[in-house]
Formats: sequence, C-alpha cells, structure tokens
Amino acid sequence: MLSLHDMLFGSNTETIQEHPSEPFVEGVRLWSGSLPGQSELLDGFSSLMAQGRMPHFLVLGGQTGCGQLIAALSIAQTLLCSNPTAPCGHCRACKRVGDLNHQDLHITFPTIGAKAVSLDFYAQWRDAFFENPYMNVTEWVSVIDKEGKLPNITVAECEAFEEQFSMKAFLGDKKVFVIWLPEYLGKEGNKLLKILEEPPADSYIIMATDNESALLPTIRSRAQRYPMYLPHVDHCIEYIVRSQNVSEIEARTCLLIADNNLAQALHWSRDTESPYLELTKALFRSAYTGQTVGMMEWVEKVSTLGRDKQNAQLKYILQMLSLALRMKNNVLHPVEFQNDMLDYVFKLSNGLSEPQIEKISDLIDDAIVAVNRNANAKILMTDFIIQLAACLVLKK
Ligand SMILES: [Zn+2]
Repeated sequence: MLSLHDMLFGSNTETIQEHPSEPFVEGVRLWSGSLPGQSELLDGFSSLMAQGRMPHFLVLGGQTGCGQLIAALSIAQTLLCSNPTAPCGHCRACKRVGDLNHQDLHITFPTIGAKAVSLDFYAQWRDAFFENPYMNVTEWVSVIDKEGKLPNITVAECEAFEEQFSMKAFLGDKKVFVIWLPEYLGKEGNKLLKILEEPPADSYIIMATDNESALLPTIRSRAQRYPMYLPHVDHCIEYIVRSQNVSEIEARTCLLIADNNLAQALHWSRDTESPYLELTKALFRSAYTGQTVGMMEWVEKVSTLGRDKQNAQLKYILQMLSLALRMKNNVLHPVEFQNDMLDYVFKLSNGLSEPQIEKISDLIDDAIVAVNRNANAKILMTDFIIQLAACLVLKK
C-alpha cells in the first residue's frame, strides 16, 4: 500500500536533511519546530527540492489548525537556505526567514480597508504570528480592527504583489511568495492568473488556505495541491507540553476541550492563569441560587474583561457544556482525566438535563454574536445571566 508520502511526492525519495523538531536551533527559529506531526509532508518537499522537481506554485489546504502557514514558511526556509543541508539553521537566510525579515520572502495576508496592502500591517501581523503561529483569521483581524469589518486581499495588494514579483532576488537566487488565506482574494485573484500560469524559474508561490474550495477554479487548476491534516493527538500533546511548559495532563485536557484542534488547545493552554473556570463556577452558582447580588458581581467581573476575553470565557463555557453532553452520553469518561475543570464538567453533566444544555448553549451562541457586535457588555451579560437563571429553574 502506498503511504501518504508516496501518494503526494512519489516513492523516489533521496536521503534528505531531517527537519528539526525544536522551534529554535542555536537561537535561530526553524519553522518546522512549530509544526508537530507534519514531518512526512516537509520531508516530501525537501526530497522534491533535492530532485529539482519542486513545484513553483503550490496550495497547502486543510481545515483551520493544521498549520498550513507554518508549513509554507518552513518550505520557504528550506528553499531560501544557502546550505545544501537545508534548512541548516546557521545561514543568514535561515535566520531571516525565522525572523520573518527576509527581502526575498513576501507574505500576503487579509487586511482591513479597501485600499490596504499587507505591508501596511506587516509589523502587527508579524508580532501576532510570533505570539501564535496557529492564529486564525478572526484572531488576526481582532488585532487590527475592533469594529467587525470584513477582511480581504485588495486590488492594491495584488498590484504590490505583481510589482514585487517583477523584481530580482536580493539576497540569493530565489524568491518565495506566501499567500496566507488566498480565499480572501475573491475575484481579485484573476489579476494574478498570468503570474500563476508560469512562474519564472527563480520564483515559488505557496498558498496556505483554510478553505480550498473557496479559491477560484482558475487558481486551483494551476496549482499543485497538497492536503494537510490535523496532527495526531500524541504529537499535539508533546508539542503543547514543550512549547507551553505545562504538564502532560494539562496538555491532554486542553486538547480535549479543544476537540483535538491544536490551535484551540494552545489557546487554552496559554491561558492557564485565566479566571475562566472560577468565573464559570461563579456563573452557575449565582444563576442557580438566583441571588441578585451574586449575579451582578459576576456581570461586573466579566464586563471588565475586554471583548476578546469575554469571547474566550463564553467559548470556554460552551466547550464545557459540550463535554458535559458527551459525558452524559458516555462518550467521555471522567475517570480518564483528573483535574478541576473536568471535575466540574462532571458536575454539570449530572446537574443539567440535555434540553437545558442545549438551551444554555444557544444562549451562549447569541451572547458571542452580541459580543462580536460590540454590544454594551453590562447590558448583554445581565440579560444573559437572567435568561440562564430562568433556564436553570425550569428543571426544578
Ligand atoms: Zn540555512
């Protein structure tokens, strides 16, 4: 039977440099170290490069959280490295790609504003990506816009792309163009067709998409397409433990709450100091007893959190309810994990009926929409907790 590797890259592989699995090698950031469980894919590209068969236009597609962009940057690092054992982790090119500061690496991403170009937002984008290489479009847009505007890749950015494309390489003999979330190109993608048709020998275009089916058929038909999949649970746990400095049980719990999505699990693991669990307990306690003072205290606390944390708090409760439902249906057994959070999920699964869990989940969904629309936090949270209290009383 053919392995995934053989299907994607053929079985004619050469001995190649193994991709380092540490994020930093002697102070240089190697992107492969932030991409657990994808070494087969990266090794495949390295062998294509070694054989001189590297495609000049490729699309890395998969659901959010597979690390498409990190893979694209890792491939860029290998392509631009000036040593035969690429990525060497020592040369100037490796260092600059690690710092996202290489003149021959161009990154296009969605921005806000009809005439905006990626360069306008590059410093913010770079900081956000360093902080969370698994960030999704919502997380990125929340950095540059608080009003819920729709992101896009503009005509102006396509023109800037064309201009960069026509220039000679600065540092070496190759140029790499990474387009993060090309699904935001829309029809503007047609402007790039000529370039995508036949990129020159020194240029490589790598698209990293969360929604391949939203790309123009004319783009898809020109690309070599490589699917990516969520990494295996064991790889994720190992990566979370190492990168976030948490225990294995914490990593496992975060992954469980996140439904095995690494990006989401990293989000939870970074927030171990957060008051999410305590606030969740306070929410249900005060709503259950129906005491106004306790309920208002909760509203007060949540209202001061800021929009992103309010969102995260609501999603946390939503995830707990989904776990409670799974426990109710015996899909998840509480004995597998011993920690405060799952202990509380177990209590919720015993204390709430299925219709109640569904109703509360709907209330939270509505609240999340309202938070994203920048509704007044106090009014919104007061309304939410009153409705929750009513829902909890129903069963009694
Ligand atoms: Zn190098």
